Amino acid sequence: MNCYDCQAADRGVTAVAICGSCGAALCAVHARTTSRSVHRVNGMGVATLPLAARRITCFTCARAETQLQTEPPATSGSSAPRRPSA
Ligand SMILES: [Zn+2]
Ligand SMILES: [Zn+2]
Repeated sequence: MNCYDCQAADRGVTAVAICGSCGAALCAVHARTTSRSVHRVNGMGVATLPLAARRITCFTCARAETQLQTEPPATSGSSAPRRPSA
């Protein structure tokens, strides 16, 4: 199987991983490896286990997932509003 992102650019590069989110096949360049903490229900709460699991995603899914965590949607103008050039 070939990398999905490379295939879109007309390059046939053999895939080495699968995106854990969208399922696209990825080459080493397009695969993004992150760690994922493992939770276990523990009595009334949830315990986070000390060892993290591996998670491989494509860049598209990685970007989509991090935008939820770090970047709240911009509602109005920031401290430096952009002016039209003309
Ligand atoms: Zn690729
Ligand atoms: Zn993906």
